Amino acid sequence: MKDRFGRTISYLRISVTDRCNLRCVYCMPVQGISLLRHEDVLRYEEIVRVARIAEDLGFSKFRLTGGEPLVRKGIVSLVETLARPCSPGNNTENHGTSPQNSVPFRGKSRSLAMTTNGVLLSQYARPLRAAGLDRINVSLDTLDRAKYQRITGFDEFDRVMAGIREARAVGFEPLKINVVAMRGINDDEVGDFVRLAQEGFEVRFIELMPFRVRAERWSDRFISGAEIREKIAQTFHIRRTDEGPTAGPAKMYRAEDWPGRIGFIEPISSSFCSACNRLRLTSDGFLKPCLLSDVEVDLKTPLRTGVPDEEIAELFERAVFEKPRGHRLKEHRLPVRTMAQVGG
Ligand code: SAM
Ligand code: SF4
Repeated sequence: MKDRFGRTISYLRISVTDRCNLRCVYCMPVQGISLLRHEDVLRYEEIVRVARIAEDLGFSKFRLTGGEPLVRKGIVSLVETLARPCSPGNNTENHGTSPQNSVPFRGKSRSLAMTTNGVLLSQYARPLRAAGLDRINVSLDTLDRAKYQRITGFDEFDRVMAGIREARAVGFEPLKINVVAMRGINDDEVGDFVRLAQEGFEVRFIELMPFRVRAERWSDRFISGAEIREKIAQTFHIRRTDEGPTAGPAKMYRAEDWPGRIGFIEPISSSFCSACNRLRLTSDGFLKPCLLSDVEVDLKTPLRTGVPDEEIAELFERAVFEKPRGHRLKEHRLPVRTMAQVGG
């Protein structure tokens, strides 16, 4: 699908839940968010139907996210259904946790990935791999256990590290580590993160985005991708690279001659939006043309009133049409939903 600005839209990020087992300072208020009612969250067979329609429209890349995707019951069977075609003809309504009997997802050329905080990864990595998940990104903003607790509210650093090790052991390579860079919090650790490229990790520094979560001033914590690169270049030789799989809006570099790559995702300081190829599906069934805008297209109501696939496809067309040229953060237009509510 092409949008009004000539971008090809082929990537759907699917939030499977708004719940999370952490409270990262930049994402969740300490007291949590007001959670969706169970019945307002899309059922797995509804998610599978939407994904299949998206695939028919040319979407080839899918990512499961949240909230924390691994806290939703039955997540492995959702992955299995999305990753592998299942036999047609079984279209049983299913309110539970197993989506196996839902509408088959047919294609073979798509990729399926997940973004997780890694807390539950040591227990899920192997079944996720066996279910057909292609790639995993783990979010980890510090390599220091005490600091991890300050950022996320929980003492889970060791479990995340164990999850990362297990994910690699079962074949998720290269494993991507997402690091939200924050001045005065983890900018002293950029060198340690870069060194992970020596072991083949792909480390991606993400610019902090301003959501309405904490009173702390976003601008005091924001640090640009360019400034992080300057810091890195004081110690390491880094060069831009276009090798490897396409990285979407990330600018990719290599440090020294190490196997892993270093990426910079710069939603604030760069013209990130011109390369945007994605739509987002929220866990309560809205299609969002842009993470950083409040425009949404309701899919849940039509899904639940039994409309045919063609009408859902038209709603995709509307969402693609509504995709803005770029976000308006510089004009202080902050989105109402937080990252955990939209699906990062
Ligand atoms: N819970 C999972 C996790 O943390 O990986 C998936 C959902 S989380 C919302 C997805 C990504 O969004 C994470 O990498 C997280 O660091 C990022 N994120 C959340 N809030 C952000 C913010 N204010 N600025 C930049 N990235 C943010
Ligand atoms: Fe949870 Fe992920 Fe948000 Fe952290 S970034 S609070 S792990 S949803």
